[in-house]
Amino acid sequence: MFSDNKPTISFELFPPKTEEGHQKLLATIDKLCELKPNFFSCTYGAGGGSREKTLDIVELIQKKHRVPAVAHLTCVLHTKDEIKTILQEMKKRGIHYVLALRGDPPKDNPGWTPGADNFKYSCELVAFIRQYFGDFFGIGVAGFPEGHVLAPSRDLDAQYLKSKIDAGADYVITQLFFNNQDYFDYVKRLRKLEILSRVIPGILPITDYSGLVRFCSLCGASIPREVHDIFKPIQNNPQKTLEAGIAFAIKQCQELLKNGAPGLHFYTLNKLHPMDVILKEVRI
Ligand SMILES: Cc1cc2nc3c(=O)[nH]c(=O)nc-3n(C[C@H](O)[C@H](O)[C@H](O)COP(=O)(O)OP(=O)(O)OC[C@H]3O[C@@H](n4cnc5c(N)ncnc54)[C@H](O)[C@@H]3O)c2cc1C
Repeated sequence: MFSDNKPTISFELFPPKTEEGHQKLLATIDKLCELKPNFFSCTYGAGGGSREKTLDIVELIQKKHRVPAVAHLTCVLHTKDEIKTILQEMKKRGIHYVLALRGDPPKDNPGWTPGADNFKYSCELVAFIRQYFGDFFGIGVAGFPEGHVLAPSRDLDAQYLKSKIDAGADYVITQLFFNNQDYFDYVKRLRKLEILSRVIPGILPITDYSGLVRFCSLCGASIPREVHDIFKPIQNNPQKTLEAGIAFAIKQCQELLKNGAPGLHFYTLNKLHPMDVILKEVRI
């Protein structure tokens, strides 16, 4: 995935709930591959049937398209034994890349808390993978430029990130953000703690203003005034929102790359457009 020092381009997908959605995703993956990403990643559901599909999608991308693909894996609702079984299954299928996450309790079981048989934090999952599987897996972890929504402070959050790296994680993919200064400050905070790993910024091209407001209120990412000012007045005009979202993402990505970001990880929401347009501009 990181065989040369050029900035990487990666696309995050999620497993669709229906067979029709799955077929549509396969066609989208074909098209996304034409944009020559360095790797894909596929999310792991908060519970329910979609969890098994993550490995299927990752395996398909690797086998059919010969592009590296990262399987997200979360601790919630899994015992340590179950996690070990999933990792063994990944190994059997030749999946070498995992994004080790804690996850959040699902909507239908919001009170779930980890017991003695579960992992409490993602750093424990990272240590477990290294303990049982050595260097078989390349391990990524989540980073939060504005601090995780539950972290008491940004400094403490950076310390927790350090515990993931110290446990054996190789690189970081960040939560979405819209103010690049938050990312630059985050990287500085991490470097001060001698975390030298790649910190790949996560980019969400805005295509739906009300969906964005809803999602950010849950994940704790802040929406700058500028974003409200651009997108709120055009929220009922999908075409104008799409065009403004593309323009915003291009500017954001160009500034990140100009200032040394080691890549761009796009939350594609399983869409080809606007990725094709954004990448054309960003690559120029
Ligand atoms: C790039 C990316 C991809 C994601 N993909 C998925 C996905 O596929 N599926 C999904 O369900 N969710 C996904 N998430 C969401 C993620 O699961 C949630 O944000 C979750 O709340 C935190 O996960 P984490 O791995 O950072 O947890 P952790 O690193 O365990 O952190 C969780 C909380 O505990 C604190 N903490 C961490 N370590 C310690 C410690 N040692 N002592 C005390 N406190 C600590 C942190 O500050 C934070 O508040 C993703 C997030 C990102 C950024």
